[in-house]
Amino acid sequence: MCIRVRRTTSTSYTLYDDIERLITIPAALPRVAAYTVVRAILDELAAPQPAFGARCFCGDPVRLGLHIPQQRETEKMVMNRGA
Ligand SMILES: [Zn+2]
Repeated sequence: MCIRVRRTTSTSYTLYDDIERLITIPAALPRVAAYTVVRAILDELAAPQPAFGARCFCGDPVRLGLHIPQQRETEKMVMNRGA
């Protein structure tokens, strides 16, 4: 089973669930920090990490389930309204 990452808004959670092979990180954690945390956990689990990104034991990239910020679109809409 591959390592999965989920994000939570809860303050009480298990950082790594060995049975589920599930890494949990705070929802508000920025992208770079999220990778740092996930890589550190994977490193602890003896999964070799590449220079960038995060990898599972099997070598597959681990997806962090990040949301793409919609802020830019919102800004543009506000600017258009002002013009
Ligand atoms: Zn895997």
